[in-house]
Amino acid sequence: MRKTISKYEMLGPRDRIMVAVSGGKDSVTLLHILAKIEKAFPDVVLCAGTVDEGIRDYRDEALKIAEENCRKLGVEHRVTSFKELFGYELDEIVELARNKGLSGLTPCSYCGVLRRKALNSLAREAGVDKLVVAHSLDDETQTMLLNIVHGDPLRLARSKPVLDVIHPKLVQRVKPLCMVPEKEVVLYAYLKGIEFQSITCPYAQTALRNDIRTMLNRMEHKHAGTLFTVFHSIEKIRPALEAYAKEVELKDCRACGEPTVGDLCRSCQMLEQLGIL
Ligand code: SF4
Ligand code: ZN
Repeated sequence: MRKTISKYEMLGPRDRIMVAVSGGKDSVTLLHILAKIEKAFPDVVLCAGTVDEGIRDYRDEALKIAEENCRKLGVEHRVTSFKELFGYELDEIVELARNKGLSGLTPCSYCGVLRRKALNSLAREAGVDKLVVAHSLDDETQTMLLNIVHGDPLRLARSKPVLDVIHPKLVQRVKPLCMVPEKEVVLYAYLKGIEFQSITCPYAQTALRNDIRTMLNRMEHKHAGTLFTVFHSIEKIRPALEAYAKEVELKDCRACGEPTVGDLCRSCQMLEQLGIL
């Protein structure tokens, strides 16, 4: 991971950093590793941020685990929730979508868009320079294939190990685990006795990502190195995609004021569709 951080110049010796900690294995392990590295850099300020989406029988436990790990490491922990920011928990949003017959979006579609916005707000309020997310090699390759399956290959140009700073309201995201396979993260966590949440989200089965994960895991099992090959192939074609992709001009969302390409940002579009904007 240190090599990835220096290869992409992800973090600097005086950065203020927020680690997005869900309570799952990747994010908790990443927090432990960064807390260890941070000791050698006294000017770095490290904190953690968690978003409570409001998922019954799942997120409460994860939140406790995230809190407990932050306490042990002496890292400041900030928490926000969908309820606080949007007025509704994810469970309520899923129920509303079902009642309205909105079958086009899965719970993960709502969750992903709203959490992204929530994390950015949390990081911005904390005044950090970098928002560190725990996307492993597995997550990154799944996202790459998902972009293709969704018919949006130009997103590959934007979704990279260090995201470009495209607006002052958007905190720069970096992904130090992007070249670390998930099984190595788990192995490290077990060896170090790191406590993380092991149950999976009740909505995970509904996501297309789940099918992509299964396919990639089968490929990796049969043809070791598949994940790295996919990752490096996209790295190779990304400069061409970046040159092809038009620069987007961001304006303020008319409802929430966050940066967006259209009139309404994606999360406000979703809330409007649900009748709760
Ligand atoms: Fe959200 Fe889907 Fe992840 Fe559950 S599996 S936390 S609904 S993105
Ligand atoms: Zn908005």
